[in-house]
Amino acid sequence: MTNCSIDEFGLISRFFGNVGEFDESSFDSPVIPLGIGDDCAILRPPPDHEICLSIDTLVCGVHFPESITPYHLGYRSLAVSLSDLAAMGALPVAFTLALTLPESNVKWLADFSRGLSQLANQYQIRLVGGDTTKGPLTVSIQVHGLVPVDQALKRSGAQVGDLICVSGSLGAAGAALSVLHLEPEIDSASAGVRHLLEHYFRPQPKIELGCLLRGYATAAIDISDGLLADFNHIAESSKVGGVFYEEKIPCSDMLRSEVGSESLSIALTAGDDYELCFCLPECHYEQLKQNELFRTVSIIGVVSSELGLKMRHKDGSERILNPKGYTHF
Ligand code: ADP
Ligand code: MG
Repeated sequence: MTNCSIDEFGLISRFFGNVGEFDESSFDSPVIPLGIGDDCAILRPPPDHEICLSIDTLVCGVHFPESITPYHLGYRSLAVSLSDLAAMGALPVAFTLALTLPESNVKWLADFSRGLSQLANQYQIRLVGGDTTKGPLTVSIQVHGLVPVDQALKRSGAQVGDLICVSGSLGAAGAALSVLHLEPEIDSASAGVRHLLEHYFRPQPKIELGCLLRGYATAAIDISDGLLADFNHIAESSKVGGVFYEEKIPCSDMLRSEVGSESLSIALTAGDDYELCFCLPECHYEQLKQNELFRTVSIIGVVSSELGLKMRHKDGSERILNPKGYTHF
């Protein structure tokens, strides 16, 4: 803690002292022997596990609109970090929070903490420490997750011939960017607008799917910057290419009815969906398909030896795709 004006310790214990709980019952010794309140938290990975960790920083006006409600900010900040654990096939355990605030406003903090807690409880992840400072509104969350040794899903393992798969439907969060100002009236918005806003403000990290894919998927990534841009990271790390099937790219009916013919390009290039894109040897598909978690998984293409990305149209013709999604600079 540096220069936050109100009683820092009161603030921390009131709003951040008891956020989320990791279920230790299936482990022989405590995974979190020490949480908030000391100079460091302590994590003890169970034997034969390693810790995956990832940090995301969200800056006001850059990664979220100034008008965002603190509830949605809390929810979304943790969701986007958890999504990185999902992409590695890791089980979330604990997170730390570095919060920079222009002022300390009790109502704001209560709502932020409520959003954070809702997601932390849903995914059973405990807040174990952090830092609170004064300055332009910025939220950094570092997440820690467990994965059995050598079973993390990386970007680098895709093999030629693997199926390219994606969970859920794409594009709704990206399409929400033009209607974010409607957030305060979200409850009275049309069903279509609500669908877009929900995807943007309350993304659902695909933790269970990520864990299921361990030992099956050869590579995985979460879609934060757009399907093409993110698959391209897999392609480059794995030194392969990809051919996508145009008619298989999953867009929701609501997205189609909101944006019409734009839906495909939004689904390919817009970010913020936080679905998983992964590569799967075909031999595993029939077995995994039986799992409830595969109900929303689509096969959208195939990994190719030819580098670069291509779109295959229904008539069999192909065109080269530009993998550029959202770029920050
Ligand atoms: P230090 O000066 O040793 O860094 P602080 O005074 O910043 O410690 O924090 C005291 C305790 O409160 C630490 O355990 C720290 O992890 C925790 N903490 C501070 N800010 C936050 C926050 N925003 N969320 C969760 N825990 C926090
Ligand atoms: Mg200290």
